Amino acid sequence: MANTIISVKNLCKNYGDFQAVKSISFEVNEGEIFGLLGPNGAGKSTTLEIIETLRDKTSGEILVNGMDLDKQPGDIKKIIGVQLQASGFYPGLNLVELIKLFAGLYNQPIDPMELLKKVNLVDKAKNKSNELSGGQKQRFSIATTLINKPKIIFLDEPTTGLDPQARRNLWELIKDIKANGTTVIITTHYMDEAEQLCDRIAIMNEGKIIKLDSPDKMIDDLVATGFERLKQVKAANLEDVFIHLTGREMREE
Ligand code: ADP
Repeated sequence: MANTIISVKNLCKNYGDFQAVKSISFEVNEGEIFGLLGPNGAGKSTTLEIIETLRDKTSGEILVNGMDLDKQPGDIKKIIGVQLQASGFYPGLNLVELIKLFAGLYNQPIDPMELLKKVNLVDKAKNKSNELSGGQKQRFSIATTLINKPKIIFLDEPTTGLDPQARRNLWELIKDIKANGTTVIITTHYMDEAEQLCDRIAIMNEGKIIKLDSPDKMIDDLVATGFERLKQVKAANLEDVFIHLTGREMREE
């Protein structure tokens, strides 16, 4: 049996009269990639920001690595990595300087070049963040989640706006992070990405979790209802065509 690293029980969040999160319960297993999916407004960010200790809850119980969110928010912060918004990357500093700055805030000794190597940005060490391509910015943003050597990282739509090559490159990075034993919680609107990456997925809608399972099981369950795709599935899709024509290698470097 997998160990539970995050346990959420009857979590509710109201904004005034509006119930954004309606008594949801779920568990995340240590070492898995867990996807939180759902349409805009479903309550995903609210849920994740509460677990990240960035937002207050209305009610419910949350344990992170055995620690109660109500009692030990400071200790929880120490073992999680949250993506910093690109707007927080001081434009005057280069990547090494930014890593040193963040490491200082976390009070963590770190080798900036080793971290940049992990995310394939050694060549950009002396560049400023506004000199990076979209994919490089995302990789750097993921690197910032790793600075405090967290047990769990939270990735919020990490591949939105990237070209297919950069997206695949990021998937490899996220798989590497999982392979190193880090638990990953990810939100995405790309179902192919969720299918590729996630061990399990929770689908949220209107403040509730309406399904939680592995992608494979969810698809099997749908097929078992007699569901059939309207269109004949071809042996390749347009993304395959794009990658076939333009190659897998990254362009931005
Ligand atoms: P998602 O991340 O799934 O798009 P959110 O958690 O951001 O959803 O939002 C869930 C609902 O709560 C939405 O209807 C949103 O408008 C509302 N909401 C989010 N933050 C606030 C806030 N600070 N004040 C009032 N309503 C909010």
